[in-house]
Amino acid sequence: MTAPHEEMACQTCLSPLNTLGMPPTYVHPTHLATDGHKPAPVPVSQLDTVRRTCDFCGDPYPIWTMHGGEVTAIAIGPTAGLVQDFGDSWAACAACQTHIDEGRNDIVIDRAIRALGLANHPHVRTRIEELHQAFLNARLAGRTLITTTTWPATTITATALPKVRDRLTRFYRGTDNLPATLGITDTRQQIADGLERSHLYWIDNDFTDLAEHAAAQLPAVRVSRDLIPSTDGILIWPRPVTHLQLTAASWADTPHGRAVVLYRTIGGGLHGKPLQRLREQVGWLAPTRATHLSEQQVIPGDHPAAALVATWLLIAQQAAEVTTARVDKTIARTYARTNRPVPELRIVHIRGRRTTGSHGEPKRGSQERSQTSRFWVSGHWRNQAHGPGRSLRRPVYIHPFLRGPDDAPIKLSTTVRMLSSHQPKPQDGQ
Ligand SMILES: [Zn+2]
Ligand SMILES: [Zn+2]
Repeated sequence: MTAPHEEMACQTCLSPLNTLGMPPTYVHPTHLATDGHKPAPVPVSQLDTVRRTCDFCGDPYPIWTMHGGEVTAIAIGPTAGLVQDFGDSWAACAACQTHIDEGRNDIVIDRAIRALGLANHPHVRTRIEELHQAFLNARLAGRTLITTTTWPATTITATALPKVRDRLTRFYRGTDNLPATLGITDTRQQIADGLERSHLYWIDNDFTDLAEHAAAQLPAVRVSRDLIPSTDGILIWPRPVTHLQLTAASWADTPHGRAVVLYRTIGGGLHGKPLQRLREQVGWLAPTRATHLSEQQVIPGDHPAAALVATWLLIAQQAAEVTTARVDKTIARTYARTNRPVPELRIVHIRGRRTTGSHGEPKRGSQERSQTSRFWVSGHWRNQAHGPGRSLRRPVYIHPFLRGPDDAPIKLSTTVRMLSSHQPKPQDGQ
């Protein structure tokens, strides 16, 4: 529940903090069970993840911020009066938002009573209803997508990608707000334009492992047009990557530079109508970070977009094999009906890694036949010459390969060996 001043959350447990007294001190919400640590207040705008709960029912996956009446409740206890500032911005979960939109505030109150573990007593209902009504009676139009909730991951398949792209485009074109801290309020129409022109890339599981591994060691990279596989694009990793837990990235040419947006999936674990409405109104992806990259900009290896840049580099150095796949017939028909060209899906996998065996798989030593899993043998980045007169340098990932039988599962966590963290020296690799 937010107050008009900058909202703070605890850097240790990522929970929004309440204020107490004047000048305010920051305290954990009273209902929160902590391990006893002291609150470490930071502005929520600095956090990618905030452990917020629905202000109506306590659900751990709120999706919308609603704006309404300023609500203050005073509880008089045996020792002191506690002033609880509920603020004028409330977080709502998908279910509560659905019930509120349908005028079923009684169901929202049922949810709150269940969450609080209270007896369903008329007095209890009345008190909760008063709080909810104080907020809802002064509700303002519009709502803002909450992008800091960590949802259970949703796997996006390659065939779903055109629909995922279309819903995201529609969201950018719509009237629901995005948090101002993302910095794309003014460019969302141009990002939507870019998505409509996008090439669609779906990264397979093995290539995702490789890209994430390579991203962890990424040196500083100069991002130029020829590094990027298409002017506008969107790509999907089938599982969350890096500490930011990203599942997608989009890039678009805009008058202000290249708009790069990084996404997490939303809606995992929802069912029924709330899920259906979320997919209709938002889709599968919520922006987590956005940035503008100018041509030839050098970005550090620990940049939020490192996984995207590593994926671009690996595609550019032809570690990738990119095959096109047909979209399924229903999607093709939908596009045909609206006179849009049928989108082409690009599936990115590791060159020569397909089990169909038609790509000259190198024979391996006999000791590998006894292994029951495959594992990555660490590669490393090295700057190589490229471009006119070989005057430019670009990191190339050297010698990453898989060891073990082709059909064996890839063991990642136990056997990846990270190289030391020293940065590769520039050299004239030819
Ligand atoms: Zn804390
Ligand atoms: Zn709720």
